[in-house]
Amino acid sequence: MRTAQVINPATEEAVATIELADEAATDAAIERAAAAAPAWRAVAPGDRARLLRRFADAVDDDLEHLARLEVANAGHTIGNARWEAGNVRDVLHYAAGIPERLLGQQIPVADGVNITFHEPLGVVGVIVPWNFPMPIAAWGFGPALAAGNTVVLKPAELTPLTAIRLGELALRAGLPEGVFQVLPGKGTVVGQRFVTHPAVRKVVFTGSTDVGKQIMAGCADRVKRVTLELGGKSANIVFADADLEKAAATAPYGVFDNAGQDCCARSRILVQRGVFDRFLELMEPAVAGVRVGDPSDEATEMGPLISAAHRERVAGFVSPSTKIAYTGTHRDGPGFWYPPTVVLPDGPDDRILTEEIFGPVVAVLPFEDEADALRIANDTEYGLSGSIWTGDVGRALRVARGVEAGNLSVNSHSSVRYWTPFGGYKQSGLGRELGPDAALSFTETKNVFIAT
Ligand code: NAP
Ligand code: MG
Repeated sequence: MRTAQVINPATEEAVATIELADEAATDAAIERAAAAAPAWRAVAPGDRARLLRRFADAVDDDLEHLARLEVANAGHTIGNARWEAGNVRDVLHYAAGIPERLLGQQIPVADGVNITFHEPLGVVGVIVPWNFPMPIAAWGFGPALAAGNTVVLKPAELTPLTAIRLGELALRAGLPEGVFQVLPGKGTVVGQRFVTHPAVRKVVFTGSTDVGKQIMAGCADRVKRVTLELGGKSANIVFADADLEKAAATAPYGVFDNAGQDCCARSRILVQRGVFDRFLELMEPAVAGVRVGDPSDEATEMGPLISAAHRERVAGFVSPSTKIAYTGTHRDGPGFWYPPTVVLPDGPDDRILTEEIFGPVVAVLPFEDEADALRIANDTEYGLSGSIWTGDVGRALRVARGVEAGNLSVNSHSSVRYWTPFGGYKQSGLGRELGPDAALSFTETKNVFIAT
């Protein structure tokens, strides 16, 4: 049996050893999920709802434990980790409302009755990255289970601990065996098998755009359903008429939260020319003030990066010739630390503007007017999120409608509410998670005509 050590990124100490599933173990899990599917889809809607509510309650009872596990495994600040565990609970409670409300339609026809049904797909494979191990998993498995599917969840190899715990909590809540399984292992083994195994009817993938493209190509072979949540290079657009103090004070949170390892990170700050220098001045103390340190300390705002390899990748974006405006707190090891870093890009083709860094490095650049802001904001292959800061409601809506991205916020950096849809335009993904329609993407719509 192959094993992997789980490392605490804030201390570089091993905190657990886990078994990695091989292909045979993956096939066995998929076959158990397929065997459990007929009984699970036959569970009465109210009973399925009750089981999901009990799962949500089990998560709530375990919230502090789950949060501490995530601090130790992913280096998330304790405040963020509590929010993440709470988000799993909330997603499950919301999902518990789905079974009784998965309504078909009765569509008028001549000479008969026409009814639509939303039927579960069968087995769903959910593949999750290391940056938000708990919420991203729940956005897949919550609505999938609610719609009557069985789920096999593959956590990222670096961050399996909370996923394993969620599997235990599901069993404790009374979900039947085989309905929700957690299978730690390598993407190229377990994840790849989700793509190729015929019993898996849908793959939900969150991760890098490169791997997402491979998954989509692999699924094409069987016309397998996919939802993809991929990378981002989102813009934070600050107009001269904005509350500049507030925009500058919150901009670090918009990009350095979770040490920038956030697909929604506003990693390009676009500032209108007339207030550009003023904004940079105002943001400097906010960046200096980001409290970087021990993630289990309640006051900490930014922890370490996930691994030494990832830190090296992030550092690779900042060369000796990079124009750094200023940086925040530096920390020495142990721990995979990288300081908040504010960069002035070297022209529109600078990699700092075109590639997803996934670390605490942000580019700040000027724009002239609304049209110029939209041109720059949309000059990327990505389209996940973004912020618009302005005092003019009309402009806010015009620009929000003009940015090619799935999740915009005005005078705020918030991107995620479990009851509103989330997902990307362009190469940031395919399909939407969360919100009122999430469960439909885990169903086939069947149309039945009855002659009368
Ligand atoms: P990644 O390398 O693409 O990995 C994501 C997941 O896919 C991991 O579980 C990984 O397993 C697995 N995987 C890797 N290769 C695979 C393959 N060939 N077949 C099937 N599965 C495979 O991404 P990451 O480095 O973990 O995460 C960072 C990326 O996630 C960023 O680009 C970020 O923007 C994106 N992200 C997007 C969203 C969103 O909602 N749009 C949210 C969060 C993160 P291993 O752990 O074994 O490699
Ligand atoms: Mg990877």
